Amino acid sequence: MAKSDIDIAREADVKPITEVGAKLDIPADALRQYGPDKAKVSFDYLDSLEDRKDGNLILVTALSPTPAGEGKTTTTVGLGDGLNAIGKKAVMALREPSLGPCFGVKGGAAGGGYAQVVPMEDINLHFTGDFHAIGAAHNLLSALIDNHIYWGNELGFDERRVAWRRVVDMNDRALRDIVCSLGGVSNGFPRQTGFDITVASEVMAIFCLSKDLKDLEERLGNIVVGYTRSREAIYARDLKAQGPMTVLLKDALMPNLVQTLENNPAFIHGGPFANIAHGCNTVSATRAALKLGDYVVTEAGFGADLGAEKFFDIKCRKAGLDPKAVVIVATVRALKMHGGVAKDDLAAENVEAVKKGLENLGRHIRNVGQFGVPAVVGINRFTLDTDAELAAVKEYTEQFGVEAIECNHWAEGSKGTIDLANKVVEIVEGGGAQFRTLYEDDMPLFDKINTIARNIYGADEAIADKKVRDQLHQWEKDGYGNLPVCMAKTQYSFSTDPNLRGAPTGHVVPVREVRLSAGAGFIVAICGEIMTMPGLPRVPAANSIHLDDEGLVQGLF
Ligand code: ADP
Ligand code: MG
Repeated sequence: MAKSDIDIAREADVKPITEVGAKLDIPADALRQYGPDKAKVSFDYLDSLEDRKDGNLILVTALSPTPAGEGKTTTTVGLGDGLNAIGKKAVMALREPSLGPCFGVKGGAAGGGYAQVVPMEDINLHFTGDFHAIGAAHNLLSALIDNHIYWGNELGFDERRVAWRRVVDMNDRALRDIVCSLGGVSNGFPRQTGFDITVASEVMAIFCLSKDLKDLEERLGNIVVGYTRSREAIYARDLKAQGPMTVLLKDALMPNLVQTLENNPAFIHGGPFANIAHGCNTVSATRAALKLGDYVVTEAGFGADLGAEKFFDIKCRKAGLDPKAVVIVATVRALKMHGGVAKDDLAAENVEAVKKGLENLGRHIRNVGQFGVPAVVGINRFTLDTDAELAAVKEYTEQFGVEAIECNHWAEGSKGTIDLANKVVEIVEGGGAQFRTLYEDDMPLFDKINTIARNIYGADEAIADKKVRDQLHQWEKDGYGNLPVCMAKTQYSFSTDPNLRGAPTGHVVPVREVRLSAGAGFIVAICGEIMTMPGLPRVPAANSIHLDDEGLVQGLF
């Protein structure tokens, strides 16, 4: 039987984090250590690198996800190790996993097989406490709002229109909708509210898009927390909340450095939802990595229609990043599912189904081309994939002038990604990238949504009720018209129907609701049911998580 991810991780020869930092010439005193194998890199040191030339930014994205799994994180780590193996100074930049879901459905988020980051238990649990800090900052603002109302409500909050909820990093459906301030006069005015999971907090999105502490503070002040009876917006800055929130986040904003199983440097920092937010690690980690490495490999959530589009149109646009290459991860298993095979039938060879499913990959390849960044397909090989199935993928992508390269990092570590690493270097050195966003800042908000629906999702058009369109016009009048849009739709399909696999056409994208994330700096367009507080399954992973006699965590992965 193959070794489990945790068994492999525990066999790793983990180096002191100072040694990993030294590979990037980071002096030991610039590392704020959290135990022997984790550290934050100080802002003082990172600021001193300001004049250095940036390294080359590589995005890892994927075809539309299926329950069969595609392995973006695993491939990001595998490629980072592969680039190091061919002598490049490569750094990875990844998202931090959320704590709550670890106790629901089994599975970590620190890569897999021989392409992992360590210490994986820590990374999946409390890590360096960033998410707790984000939760505390968010809930401080919640407390300030109710406290303000309690002491006389000078700002005139309409208690029915408080827009700021509370957060906790736990899957707890009991908290989705609650009534707070029960229990009498001294506890305030009862009102309906609820909890979201911490990763869905706007503070998380702000944290991930902020360039520095000043920028963070300003964005926190811009959060819309509620409305008056005459529908005037009330901001976090009206409550003077941005100062204390920034204090709570000052250490958290320094990027976290850890290592791969092959002792190569990886930043793991920030983890916003990929639906109501943009789904990429922090700008501060990406910028640090670009100053410290010649190659930076980073991952965006979900498939390329959501993750890559937001990476380009929100993160790169806002942070002034200039990506040089894209790796689109594909698996034979996912292609088979897009070709109509059920999950239980994936073991058998089925070249026809792979060929049928390839239209999904094809659309993602074409889409990435619209951003002007050259792509390569990385086929993340699973044990049961056959050579004939792999050959079908390689042959198909030729029509796009894009190579599909077999990768075996899960089974072999960096040895399995040498070809992909060489190809990425060839693309970067070829200088073909001319990054552009999909739409300009000054395009009207609904046209931005429509552009994404048509050009990326292959839809006929986006549709919305008058109420939604009026709201967008109002925001344009209020000065928010230049913001990018953040699409919240199912990750399983180019359409808004999760069951429509492959590459559907002729569909419409109904926008049910729009939300303003004024601090993060985007408009969220909600197209379908979006769950911001997950629940636990009937038999949660928590049931088998425990410490064994040696003090090791069991059952987490
Ligand atoms: P993503 O980032 O796309 O969500 P991950 O990289 O986290 O995916 O991988 C999801 C799961 O699939 C992990 O548990 C990982 O160990 C497993 N996995 C990834 N690649 C392979 C592979 N080639 N063979 C077997 N399991 C794999
Ligand atoms: Mg991932």
